[in-house]
Amino acid sequence: MKKTTLASASQPPQTPPRNPEEIRKAFTSFLAARGLRVTGQRLAIFKVVEARTTHFTAEDLFDEVRRVDSSVSRATIYRSLPILIGNGLIREVDVGREQKYYVNTLRQNTFQAQLVCQDCDKIIEVDAPFMDWYGKTLAAKHDMELASQRLQVLAHCRDCIEKIK
Ligand SMILES: [Zn+2]
Repeated sequence: MKKTTLASASQPPQTPPRNPEEIRKAFTSFLAARGLRVTGQRLAIFKVVEARTTHFTAEDLFDEVRRVDSSVSRATIYRSLPILIGNGLIREVDVGREQKYYVNTLRQNTFQAQLVCQDCDKIIEVDAPFMDWYGKTLAAKHDMELASQRLQVLAHCRDCIEKIK
């Protein structure tokens, strides 16, 4: 299996918390290194992503970015997602639904697990530092090397429980 196919499920390498100015610089040099221009549209997308504290879909991102820069097209949003993932600014969160979710990784510096409501869009990221140890230890025990891992807890949120009542 190619390494790249695992990228979506894997966690970012552990990095210390970064400040917004450093992140902006890292983003612009990342673009430059790939021969991509630093455009107003890309910066608008970056700005929205940087401010996000909850999970979002490509459509959520499109709606929000349009409020900042109405010239940004849906295609630009979809083309930007792999760039943002490559830069380590966001991570794809697959909760087994048709829609893909993304989360800003700037405030995360340990392994993240997800608590997912089965009935609505609520996804909560939780620190799960023990998972780093667990995955490595388990793989090593079976003479394997850890490629990626995920932990998702499925639940019913209070709002959804109340609705059924
Ligand atoms: Zn719910």
